[in-house]
Amino acid sequence: MSRSAHPAGPRHADVLPEGRPGGSVPPGDLNTLDPRVWPRTAHRAEDGAVRLGGLDLRRFAEEFGTPAYVLDEEDFRARCRAWREAFGPDADVFYAGKAFLSRAVVRWLREEGLNLDVCSAGELATALDAGMPAERVALHGNNKSGAEIERAVRAGVGRIVLDSFQEIVRVADVAARLGVRQPVQIRATVGVEAHTHEFIATAHEDQKFGLALSDGQAAEAVRRVLGLDSLELLGIHSHIGSQIFDLAGFEVSARRVVGLLREIRDEHGVELPEIDLGGGLGIAYTPDDDPRAPADIAKALREIVARECEAAGLAVPRLSVEPGRAIVGPTAVTLYEVGTVKELEGLRTYVSVDGGMSDNIRTALYDAEYTVALVSRSSSAEPMLSRVVGKHCESGDIVVRDAFLPADLAPGDLIAVPATGAYCRSMASNYNHALRPPVVAVRDGRGRVIVRRETEEDLLRLDVG
Ligand SMILES: *Cc1c(COP(=O)(O)O)cnc(C)c1O
Repeated sequence: MSRSAHPAGPRHADVLPEGRPGGSVPPGDLNTLDPRVWPRTAHRAEDGAVRLGGLDLRRFAEEFGTPAYVLDEEDFRARCRAWREAFGPDADVFYAGKAFLSRAVVRWLREEGLNLDVCSAGELATALDAGMPAERVALHGNNKSGAEIERAVRAGVGRIVLDSFQEIVRVADVAARLGVRQPVQIRATVGVEAHTHEFIATAHEDQKFGLALSDGQAAEAVRRVLGLDSLELLGIHSHIGSQIFDLAGFEVSARRVVGLLREIRDEHGVELPEIDLGGGLGIAYTPDDDPRAPADIAKALREIVARECEAAGLAVPRLSVEPGRAIVGPTAVTLYEVGTVKELEGLRTYVSVDGGMSDNIRTALYDAEYTVALVSRSSSAEPMLSRVVGKHCESGDIVVRDAFLPADLAPGDLIAVPATGAYCRSMASNYNHALRPPVVAVRDGRGRVIVRRETEEDLLRLDVG
């Protein structure tokens, strides 16, 4: 079954096609900050400059420099609470740490009652160091090392999500050696691949993650896990994609996961107590994106699971979800200073900023779409079709492919790209020996560095000559 309107292939437009998000910005409206795309506390003050967390971004730049990720702490916490409340006490919300993780974030999650997904020893170390109780941590990954498994089992993580037959044995051996019974889930690939507005449901899975339902691998994994005393099988896990708006993919996924639970009951006489439907819920990168509220998502997912369980004659298991992007993505903007403005007659204007693909790889990697706004002042100049590019030695170094900025934009102006909280700092690189920008949490008119800017000393320290 396919709901595909058109394939979700990358778009490499040479000229701005009509109806593109960048193209839909009405002229004269460039000073408006769309609340779907900007963090909750963002607003343009009377003097024309944008405030975030009560802090003037011009003052922010003086104090913390550019480029920088500016994270709205109030917005982050509010989103955590919205997810937590939407799913209620008989479900768990695991924040996917890979979207962006730091010790401050771990503390906020802990305080707001969320759990945490990690997928490496580094993320686990961050979680534990910042005081997340191990039983609220889940370990993911398709190739966890022996050391990572041992670290997680020793720490007492609440679940390890098993991803292969080899891993079943590895985790069981470590747990047996340490004399513990490790809670686990099995990651099933359910034959659903979902992206944004369409999903594809197939019988077969061609991907590195999980164990396929269709050819009986997931059922075989269940058999093996149930036969091992050092593993406690909590349930089945499924994660179907990213930046998803259409919940229909989750419906197919839930139906197939519950189908497996029913088979397990019939074959083994056990009803597994948990299912996890993963993350992947979409956010608004541009005003054209229209994500569902957590309350709607929770209601829909619960209903699907309840209905499928009723049909299968199963008690409704405890549900968990794993939003990463949907929590942190909208809470941050990247603040840049404009360095050069180069007009290509009849084409577009290239606006070069003091960062680029080293702080936001998503545009180059996924052809991701972003918006951008002048934030150090307002402007009533004509809209100018712009491409915001970085300073790296690479022509694909694009931050915002097509957007309108005011025609009087000049070197020294500050511009900000919203919705960069997820998968930007966490995927940042040192390409061209760029120094990775800081993450500064803003709140109540003040900024607090939560991840500091890299220094040349940091770079040289790794280079041992
Ligand atoms: C990446 C990932 C997530 C989070 O995805 P988002 O798109 O950030 O919500 C959740 N669960 C698993 C297993 C993942 O790999």
